[in-house]
Amino acid sequence: MIWYPYEQMKTMRKPYKITDAEGVFLYTEDQKLIDSVSSWWSVIHGYKHPVLTEAIKSQADNFSHVMLGGLTHEPVLALSKKLESFLPGDLNYCFFSDSGSVAVEVALKMALQFYTNRGSRRDTVLALTHAYHGDTFKAMEVGDDEDYHFAFAEKKGVIHIPTEISALEEAFDKYHDRLNCFIVEPLLQGAGGMRMYDISFLKRARELCDKYDVLLIFDEVATGFGRTGNRFVADLVCPDILVLGKALTGGYIGHALTAANEKVFRGFYDDDDRHALMHGPTFMGNALACSVALKSIELFENEDYMEKIRRITEITEREMAGFCDPRIKEIRIMGGCVCIEVREAKTLTGFQQFAYERGVFSRPFLTYLYAMVPYIITEEQLVTVLDTMKAWFRR
Ligand SMILES: *Cc1c(COP(=O)(O)O)cnc(C)c1O
Repeated sequence: MIWYPYEQMKTMRKPYKITDAEGVFLYTEDQKLIDSVSSWWSVIHGYKHPVLTEAIKSQADNFSHVMLGGLTHEPVLALSKKLESFLPGDLNYCFFSDSGSVAVEVALKMALQFYTNRGSRRDTVLALTHAYHGDTFKAMEVGDDEDYHFAFAEKKGVIHIPTEISALEEAFDKYHDRLNCFIVEPLLQGAGGMRMYDISFLKRARELCDKYDVLLIFDEVATGFGRTGNRFVADLVCPDILVLGKALTGGYIGHALTAANEKVFRGFYDDDDRHALMHGPTFMGNALACSVALKSIELFENEDYMEKIRRITEITEREMAGFCDPRIKEIRIMGGCVCIEVREAKTLTGFQQFAYERGVFSRPFLTYLYAMVPYIITEEQLVTVLDTMKAWFRR
């Protein structure tokens, strides 16, 4: 049988069985649902997009996968070339892997080894409270979400700070000579509760990282490709290492990227074999994933997705304006993300089925009721999603 994610198998609700998916819609045997979760925030172009499906089909006719160990191929070459111009600054060195968690592991490994290659020892990572960076062990260690990882409370080699400039300055003041990197989900902390913070924090972080020679890592696995209303937050403040996943392939196949800048790459580029990056996921640079990622990026650019996202923000702000309820703690909107944070988790019990009956798929967690819709959503469909969220409080 299937062991489902984040569930107590004994008490979990029976999952909805999806029989088809197209555009923003998921189909079950008896219902047509607008997917307000975009399959964990990845399906930005919607399901069964003809261009993306064709990219996979035509590559599969050629070959689906060859390893990158000693081999290379056109889809991975074309994607890395595209990323060089598409990504900001000198984030030109693309290390591919099969999931966001692994890409975070690679980023943290790069940061640690960057200093050991120089013969210095800096084994501490600075991270944010409520951070989520994935479910593998090092990613859990730098993460800070007791609700996901309560069984692994002990933390070593990591310091967590809130998104306040004073805390940031204090941490650098105290620990700078031990820090190899500062890793953040920039502007929007997703799985930690759709927490939003100001760009001034990241600007100050960039200054302090420069001052103390600490690497700045942006985990944009969730925020990348427009979710915050910026193409990448890295367009505003450029990190040394950028991690992308989720929407990288338009949600078609699991694949992720750790992009390093010139400075980081130079820290490994050497005659000494021991200074090489010793990492190599079996399916890194998978040809199907690279083909579909390239097409996904082309769609994003050529069909002006940033304008689509601006429209989503505008409609969301308009529809949520003035909406309130004593059970609601805060309503937060940024780019293509809206979150209603309630005071008590039990307020949301039953919402998923309520939404299902109204033709919306939603998956609230803890005290967070949110929508991160596919960018191709129409105004009417988006209003349906938001109305469903509001209707729950007006029953
Ligand atoms: C989802 C997520 C990850 C983990 O990605 P997986 O592909 O699930 O391993 C890492 N960081 C952030 C910010 C995420 O949202």
